[in-house]
Amino acid sequence: MDQRIIRVGLGSDTHRLVPGRPFLLGGVELPSDRGEWGHSDGDVLTHAVIDAILGAAGLGDIGALFPPSEAAWKDADSIELLRIAFGLVKEAGWQLINLDCVVTCESPKILPYRDRIQSSLAQVLEIPGMAIFVKGKTNEGLGAVGTGQAVEALAVCLLEKGPREPDRPIGMRKQTPF
Ligand code: MG
Repeated sequence: MDQRIIRVGLGSDTHRLVPGRPFLLGGVELPSDRGEWGHSDGDVLTHAVIDAILGAAGLGDIGALFPPSEAAWKDADSIELLRIAFGLVKEAGWQLINLDCVVTCESPKILPYRDRIQSSLAQVLEIPGMAIFVKGKTNEGLGAVGTGQAVEALAVCLLEKGPREPDRPIGMRKQTPF
């Protein structure tokens, strides 16, 4: 391939919050009296990231790759699912440039755990932590998220394939003036 291709991917997910489950974001457990209900471990952010990278690569979505009807994915570690999905993305020749995410919930606060969440995702996705950003928001008390019944996550990513400028690692490309 002699042409560089870049593609954007978008992922979103929502999980119900229930007592007795861990509250997981990007493989990091946050202290909370409730956690995400789900067939897998319910890690809503990691699920959104999986859909973003699969979508950008044109490789389907999380439901097709890891069907909830299959017992194999019951209580699955979502970080391992991300590792599998990213392996397919890499096999198809794609590299991740950056990932930007929003998590919306009333509690717990995301900020104290942001660095750990970003590092956890960066380790699996093989890019510097600075190429991943995770923002925490509330829903101002509105809807299922606002009343603490659910948590939502959005993720957008950029993948690239093909020749790159020499001697420039991913995410450190020459800046174009605006
Ligand atoms: Mg999910």
